[in-house]
Amino acid sequence: MWKWKRKSKNSCGFWDCKQPIPGGDFLCAEHYRAWEKGFIDQCPNCERFKEIMYPQCLNCYFGRRVTPWKPSVVIPTQQQPYRIEYSDAWIDPHHRPDKFFVYIIRLDDGNLHVGRTADLRQRFRNHKEPGHQPQLDYLHIVATEQAAELRESELKRLIDSNPRQINLMISEFHGRMSELGFE
Ligand SMILES: [Zn+2]
Ligand SMILES: [Zn+2]
Repeated sequence: MWKWKRKSKNSCGFWDCKQPIPGGDFLCAEHYRAWEKGFIDQCPNCERFKEIMYPQCLNCYFGRRVTPWKPSVVIPTQQQPYRIEYSDAWIDPHHRPDKFFVYIIRLDDGNLHVGRTADLRQRFRNHKEPGHQPQLDYLHIVATEQAAELRESELKRLIDSNPRQINLMISEFHGRMSELGFE
């Protein structure tokens, strides 16, 4: 059933993984587990594996030149594809009680406002009153409310004591967002 080919250099088929793997395998152990659980599937363009939430691997998404990937085996059909539409976590991840968001928004007058919330959407709706266009300048996700509280006061302290550091974090945040195509 599987075609076995001897190949001296066989590496994991995940788009940015360079892990060498034995001939006859198509993913490293870590990515194989992710594939079994249905968290990764193949990029329709280059056929390397990618996270299931992206339509293409990030190389293809950004239009980078990709070398063709030739798996040394025939890839079996995925047994349990991850059903995004059936997962509460995907339908409304912001309502999961184990996630807290710490954010910085820039108000119309240029002032920075630090806050924390378990419900990001609701909070932003509140900030976006008619005629106001606040901008999200920084976002940090933590698991507990206590961690969110600590991070919030840390950020408030930094805004007063080290605005350069804050500006650096903000420009890093926007850089990452535009790299991902959100800005
Ligand atoms: Zn891998
Ligand atoms: Zn690709």
